[in-house]
Amino acid sequence: MNKAGHTITERQVITSAANADVKLLRSLHERKFRKQTGWFLAEGLRICTEALAQDFAPQRLVFAEGHEQDSLIAPLIAACKKQGGRVLCVKPALLERISRKDNPQMVIGAFDQKWSDIAEVTPQQDACWIALDRVRDPGNLGTIMRTADAVGAVGVILIDDCTDPFSLEAVRASMGAVFNVKIVKVTTAAFTSFASHWPAQIIGTALPASKDYRMAAWQRPSILLMGNEQSGLTDELIDVATDVIRLPMRGQSDSLNLAVATGICLYEMYRDCPE
Ligand code: SAM
Repeated sequence: MNKAGHTITERQVITSAANADVKLLRSLHERKFRKQTGWFLAEGLRICTEALAQDFAPQRLVFAEGHEQDSLIAPLIAACKKQGGRVLCVKPALLERISRKDNPQMVIGAFDQKWSDIAEVTPQQDACWIALDRVRDPGNLGTIMRTADAVGAVGVILIDDCTDPFSLEAVRASMGAVFNVKIVKVTTAAFTSFASHWPAQIIGTALPASKDYRMAAWQRPSILLMGNEQSGLTDELIDVATDVIRLPMRGQSDSLNLAVATGICLYEMYRDCPE
């Protein structure tokens, strides 16, 4: 028994990268296998514990030998087993192989991906969503999920061919927000059709826009619409915006990083419409 009163039975330490579960976990670096299994990897005790708080129990839980008695690991082990998952105690070197990182976190979990439907995007009072047109960079997407969570936004709507929100890079950048925000995936056609019935604000952002972001009438409920890193928003998406704004650029750079621009807009919205 550990301090939290849970029985620790993970005595057998896995040492081989040929172990079937280790191979499965390593395969989750590839989108193809994340799609096949519906699982994704999240690293670190803090983030795995956060997942538990949001009712995500790990399907597989891996921890480094010697950490069996950590009080925060016990509830994760219990939750994993309760839902029929498997717990693996491994040599630290194997954790490096699973996370593909030097000095990996001591705990890694494989969790079920959770996707929401566009029907869940409803104009409730104060609701804020961020719609992203073909976001390609997992670091940008993770940072946007993290910022969305910080301002209390409901979630992100991924339009067309976006990077996977459940890739390890996106999950790392989200710092656990991937468990706290809703994630919707749609085509441009589905989004424009949905937008034609959305009864509230849709703020588009584009470099050629003439309205300064400080002049926009930020409201909630609202959808903030952000463009692709290379090509910005498509004309079809600009057409569904109720307002299109720009962030003034004084220097020589032609645009801001997508995640930075999203953060500035979200905090402007948050300033005008505090919780
Ligand atoms: N070359 C791209 C273009 O022409 O739009 C630059 C895209 S920018 C890196 C990615 C996204 O961030 C844009 O589509 C927009 O949503 C937002 N963004 C970046 N800088 C912006 C600015 N100064 N004003 C408004 N939106 C901006």
